[in-house]
Amino acid sequence: LFLPSRRNARGFDLGDLADLDCIEGARRPFRERRFQASPITADGVQAEAGGGHDMPNPADPNDLVGRVRDATAAEVEAAITAARPWSASARERASILERAAELYERDFGEILAIVAREAGKNLLDAVGELREAIDFLYYYARQSRQLAPTPRGRFACISPWNFPLAIFTGQIAGALAAGNAVLAKPAEQSPLTAAKGVALLHEAGVPVPALQFLPGDGTTVGAALTSDARIDGVAFTGGTDTARAIHRSMRRHLDPGAPLIAETGGLNAMIVDSTALHEQAVRDVIASAFQSAGQRCSALRCLYIQEDVREDFMRMLSGAMDELRLGDPWRLSTDLGPVIDADAAADIQRHVDNARHDGRLIKQIEAPDTGHFVGPAVIHVEGIEALEREIFGPVLHVASYRAEALDEVIEAINARGYGLTFGVHTRIEDRVQHIVDRVHAGNLYVNRNQIGAIVGSQPFGGEGLSGTGPKAGGPDYVTRFGQATAPQTAV
Ligand code: GLU
Repeated sequence: LFLPSRRNARGFDLGDLADLDCIEGARRPFRERRFQASPITADGVQAEAGGGHDMPNPADPNDLVGRVRDATAAEVEAAITAARPWSASARERASILERAAELYERDFGEILAIVAREAGKNLLDAVGELREAIDFLYYYARQSRQLAPTPRGRFACISPWNFPLAIFTGQIAGALAAGNAVLAKPAEQSPLTAAKGVALLHEAGVPVPALQFLPGDGTTVGAALTSDARIDGVAFTGGTDTARAIHRSMRRHLDPGAPLIAETGGLNAMIVDSTALHEQAVRDVIASAFQSAGQRCSALRCLYIQEDVREDFMRMLSGAMDELRLGDPWRLSTDLGPVIDADAAADIQRHVDNARHDGRLIKQIEAPDTGHFVGPAVIHVEGIEALEREIFGPVLHVASYRAEALDEVIEAINARGYGLTFGVHTRIEDRVQHIVDRVHAGNLYVNRNQIGAIVGSQPFGGEGLSGTGPKAGGPDYVTRFGQATAPQTAV
């Protein structure tokens, strides 16, 4: 029996004091370090020093995490001109991506520290972030070796702040595994984490013309990349509206064959019926709706509880919410860190306040008053049709349904047109099958939480308004970045 070698991130056991000690020792030196990010282009012109703006810690306005200097329009132009597909063979590319994975492991303390301070990730999330980034590197390296794809040319990779290392690295590794030249634009909120990833990829041996780094905003950097005819494809993760704008821009300016690989938003639902094990369902609802302060596109937004058990279930959910600890993401006991910035906090809180005003707010946990915290909230709704848009924070909407109306609930969920994640809690197997056969979603979870897809085992991505595919961490991802698969030999 031949099994291809598989490598994963080594991971940490957060229940083990020795692992916690090791993490604490490795990240402590970076507790007060000021990090830097500036454009890295291949045209030989050294980025000018100085300038730029401070990046504050979203949990603590007094903690300056570092400084970033954004790319100018001239630098974006120069980077596109200097971009060169990676000339190494598919095997060499794979080895270098694996080397990068090892370097990510080596610098885990620094990475966990930046991710906590720049993106507000608690330890559980920061460890998951690092592990996913490393898994993407190993997984796409293996695909490069197996499929030997050839490059399309220049890829723009535009990534979000909610997975500032994992998705940033995943897009780049996918494009590089196929041999493309990458122009990487990180989210404005998380350039310092991204800069660390780029430094390690370069240290591993990715040549600068094959990976250039362009921090900046969507108007100067993003729009310039997606409207330049020399770009051969775009990978984007973020809001559905931005994906639409990118698509329009690509249609106007780029070659018609240039792929857009987009992973966008969701209005994700979960159904809990009267046979569900409530303790387990409550635990999974809390994780799905509130872990990462609800800032995952996979997060649960609308929970349907069967009417007969609603009262009991809500009592347990409310009790569990009272136990959640909000605060400094660096502290080991913190369940919820801040949301990403002041605008996000204000937008989410406004949504909760509107619900309070209309008498629909069931509960909101109090939040610390410094930093951009939003207390987890539960809002009553009649159904998923009441959600105007995706609220990207710790806000759960709850509806109830009569057992006879199950199919109407499924129709209402599908009618929204998204299709990212979906969860169901029931102990009736036929019902699982009935629901799973009908709900349109890229990732369906049964009797568990609906976040945290694992690279290689649970390819992640949605349908409809939630994305174009292929799924991240799945067997078709690298192929989409390349021109062709391995040569076929006929005898
Ligand atoms: N892959 C992540 C998960 O399964 C979500 C990615 C995202 O939020 O963009 O939770």
